Amino acid sequence: MLRLRSILSLILILVTTFLVSCSSPETTKIPTTYTSEKIAQLQVYVEPIEEIRERMSELRTLIANRKWVDTASLSHGPFGLLRQRMLGLSRNLLPKDQKQAAQLAKEFFAHLERIDAAAKARNSEVAEIQFREALRDFDAFLDLIPKAS
Ligand code: ZN
Repeated sequence: MLRLRSILSLILILVTTFLVSCSSPETTKIPTTYTSEKIAQLQVYVEPIEEIRERMSELRTLIANRKWVDTASLSHGPFGLLRQRMLGLSRNLLPKDQKQAAQLAKEFFAHLERIDAAAKARNSEVAEIQFREALRDFDAFLDLIPKAS
């Protein structure tokens, strides 16, 4: 009898351990969707980035008009501040999106640096190609940001 009881309690311990180990991944699961709260929080980062996105057409016009000094100063000044903001936003995305967002931000800045170099070399062709690439990466970055529905 005593033996049976100890076997039963051992079974009980095993069952409990099994249930706990099964249910714990559920509670610590990595989020794969954005809550509306999270989307609202992200707006703090998104708004200044979208403001800069609107200035991309300004940059396009400067390049088209071969205004190289202004092209260089725009790509350094307002766009220079963007780097930390884009990386800050990347870190606040879902784990599945973080890497891609950080990569797109990095790419965007690489193109911006090449625009700056092309402005110094007064090379319209390179500046225009790099501008298009920068725009594409910028928009791909913004596409990763969840929108409030
Ligand atoms: Zn690129």
